[in-house]
Amino acid sequence: MPENQGYLKKIQKSVESIANYYGFSRIDTPILEQAEVFVKGTGSATDIVEKEMYTFRTKGGDLVALRPEFTAGIARSYIEHGMYNLPQPVKLWTVGPCFRHERPQAGRYRQLLQFDLEVLGDKNASIDGQIIQMSYDILKDLSFKNITIEVNNIGDQECRPYFKKILTSYFKSRKSQLCADCQRRLKENPLRILDCKEEKCQRVKAGAPQIIDHLCENCHAHFKQVLEFLDELELPYTLNPYLVRGFDYYTKTVFEIIEKSEAGIAQGSLVGGGRYDGLVKLLGGRDVPACGAAGGIDRMINIMRTREVKNSPASSKKQEKTQIFLAQLGQLAKRKSLKLFEEFRAAKIPVAESFSKDSLRTQLKSADKMGIRWVLIFGQKEALEEFITLRDMETGVQKGIPLNKVVEEMKAKVKN
Ligand SMILES: [Zn+2]
Ligand SMILES: [Zn+2]
Repeated sequence: MPENQGYLKKIQKSVESIANYYGFSRIDTPILEQAEVFVKGTGSATDIVEKEMYTFRTKGGDLVALRPEFTAGIARSYIEHGMYNLPQPVKLWTVGPCFRHERPQAGRYRQLLQFDLEVLGDKNASIDGQIIQMSYDILKDLSFKNITIEVNNIGDQECRPYFKKILTSYFKSRKSQLCADCQRRLKENPLRILDCKEEKCQRVKAGAPQIIDHLCENCHAHFKQVLEFLDELELPYTLNPYLVRGFDYYTKTVFEIIEKSEAGIAQGSLVGGGRYDGLVKLLGGRDVPACGAAGGIDRMINIMRTREVKNSPASSKKQEKTQIFLAQLGQLAKRKSLKLFEEFRAAKIPVAESFSKDSLRTQLKSADKMGIRWVLIFGQKEALEEFITLRDMETGVQKGIPLNKVVEEMKAKVKN
């Protein structure tokens, strides 16, 4: 409606400006896909595919579906266009309509608008941290107050099957107390019972075993790293051991950003996402780890309207040429540089990075190729001693700068 257009524009601008800043490219996948993409990818036993997806046969006999979400279509596109030949990770964002046949409800539309962020081709926990940070930034940028991040790790192929067994036997012994849907889920996907909104199921769920106690070493380490990133970024999060999300493809990290009322009661989630390391392979591609998030724009508009958010979103004016490259080595430096990166963003100074490449040589080469003059080197020693090494690529001269002075000093350099 006309009165919503201003809010829609603000949201789109904010998403675009943050996505651009973090080096994401825009993609637009078709609204209509082969139904198989979602049946295989999103999961045949999920509510979204089973109950809410609009599916129909074309005159030619193809079974197609209106996309109920973005991720499966983007993964399909990644495979079809051989994007594993591009430098990894591939970072993509989009915004547009998705379609779900739901019971009519205030603020819920069968054609719903979403924004979406995806990073394909990187298994590092820093990517999970970055996706969560960006989702949070978008909401902050739009002046959402009382928001909190709920996070969980739902395991992977190695540890989830065993957890499913424990969970199944727990629910089996309480089968009569579950709703009809959950009794069926017990066979197909017991994890989804944790997601059920029925009150009777919520009661049973409260005593259920928690996956966090059954994670394999790999998932456990990954989860720990993600939480360390969130700590470093000073993001407000809580662990929700029952958060599973309504898609089958998630592995390891899942998260939601929840809006709370003044009284602290959860109003519903605004952004949700997680890691999906198995999806690309499931859809017939290579073994490509990935992580992403999607946000519900309709709900955001409704909240903004009721609150009359006046603050304008981050400027979307054309970004200046990047003159700084942030090279980092080792976990500690990576973690701390994520925060530094965020400070640069707040100061509106563009910074290039390659969060996933490990050798300093590779990183310096990238900077050189991009024609960047100033390289900030953040290694193990620097991270421990809270300083950063600045290298002038033109003269080769290096010097140390205390970590808390870096943004200020670089601001002056870039201006000159
Ligand atoms: Zn239920
Ligand atoms: Zn695991």
